[in-house]
Amino acid sequence: MDCIFCKIARKEIPKKFDYEDEYIMAFADINPVRPVHILLVPKKHYEDLYNLDDQNVLFSMHKGVRKIVDDKKLIGQGFRIITNGGGAQLVNHLHFHLMGPVDSQEKI
Ligand code: AMP
Ligand code: ZN
Repeated sequence: MDCIFCKIARKEIPKKFDYEDEYIMAFADINPVRPVHILLVPKKHYEDLYNLDDQNVLFSMHKGVRKIVDDKKLIGQGFRIITNGGGAQLVNHLHFHLMGPVDSQEKI
């Protein structure tokens, strides 16, 4: 598929992964809005969270989030996860934005 994240999954675009398993990969956003801004992305193409039909992906997303939060030492500094869907997304391939640090006083 002619999709930027599918090309990364197929290794047609080289990318350093912060986390990888059978179902997902995680890599730095090219346009970070926080010091830590990692995208967690299924290797298989789903348009958004609404169209996801594999629970294994969610389990892997949770594992990936925990690994990155530990690696980036975000416990105590705060983190936030966002996923755009239903047409709000720019890249039509499901991804979670994991961002930090985030202060508890900051509102979305
Ligand atoms: P969204 O609006 O949720 O679809 O956001 C897409 C995100 O993907 C943006 O934050 C972009 O900066 C990011 N992005 C697009 N292309 C790449 C790429 N090749 N590598 C890393 N991040 C990317
Ligand atoms: Zn894709």
